[in-house]
Amino acid sequence: MTGGAPVIENVTTGVYCFPTPAPEADGTLSWESTTAVTVQVSAGGETGLGWTYSAGAAAGLVNDKLITVLHARDPLDVAGAWTAMHRACRNLGTKGLAMQAVSAVDVALWDLKARLFGRPLGELFGATRGQVPVYGSGGFTTSNDDQLAEQVDGWRAAGCSGMKIKIGQSWGSDVVRDLHRVRQLRALAGANVELMVDANGGYSPGQARRVGAALDELGVTWFEEPISSDDTSGLGLLRQALRCDIAAGEYVSDIYDAARLAPVVDCLQLDATRCGGYTGWLRCAAVAAAHNLQVSAHCAPALHIPVAATVPNLRHLEYFIDHVRLEPLLLQGVPEARDGVLHVNTTAPGHGMTLNPAAEEHVVN
Ligand SMILES: [Mg+2]
Repeated sequence: MTGGAPVIENVTTGVYCFPTPAPEADGTLSWESTTAVTVQVSAGGETGLGWTYSAGAAAGLVNDKLITVLHARDPLDVAGAWTAMHRACRNLGTKGLAMQAVSAVDVALWDLKARLFGRPLGELFGATRGQVPVYGSGGFTTSNDDQLAEQVDGWRAAGCSGMKIKIGQSWGSDVVRDLHRVRQLRALAGANVELMVDANGGYSPGQARRVGAALDELGVTWFEEPISSDDTSGLGLLRQALRCDIAAGEYVSDIYDAARLAPVVDCLQLDATRCGGYTGWLRCAAVAAAHNLQVSAHCAPALHIPVAATVPNLRHLEYFIDHVRLEPLLLQGVPEARDGVLHVNTTAPGHGMTLNPAAEEHVVN
């Protein structure tokens, strides 16, 4: 850091669209591209980079509402900036889209702070481990047999000991194919891989109980969003009825959402690009710890490494195929999973990643 107290001078946003190689779907949504919204914050001659997977409107929200409260602030006071941004969004609603915008800024602010100190972000957070376990994730309901086999090969090459596919096809309308694909995953992955499934809220409560019983028989250990995560009492009943772990939390926006879900899941999922950046993720992980729960980082693998390495109650990090493909297109310095782990950056300042100039071709105007 150079002399004098730096202040936030500049905040810029970018919107990037990355098409998927083929149309993709889970139990309740289909898509053909992923939109990444980046935020860069500059102070004291350094620039921090954050991002979220959202809609272009998140960049609009940063430009319309958040830049004003960030201007000329102390870049080292990340918690103060977080609170100011949260307050600025009061009338818009502080969850969902608004919190995705706050998340991208918060990640940029932490990256900036670490760069101002010239230290890796994991060191700033007090990372307690040098590597973070990952599990392979993808297996879209639109995938054919060859595509699933190819994904499993990729996860095996990365050393993943857990693999997750999407089920609940078309709002739970094809349970026969769902269970067939789980058996197929077992056949492809082998006996020692932990089988995980994600229904993205596609089943009704009774259906989820019946499918869950079949999953228990197939040795599945992780049943993610069997029903809508808004149905907390339903999740609680499923948690009691099934052997497999019930997981949810990818839409958690804040500590209040985390506190609502924590009593009804076996593992709380948290997404730093949605729950308030690194600041919000660490706070929500503490809520999980107060319920004697582990947390699992949802998607955005490269982004999550510094905080995932910091909390003692981490189970794993989701190595989601769409984001694994996208991250090197958007960023430079993205680490690759090997032997089932992602290593924590211990040398480069900040999270160690910068915008990839080649991402320019994906800019949305
Ligand atoms: Mg999910």
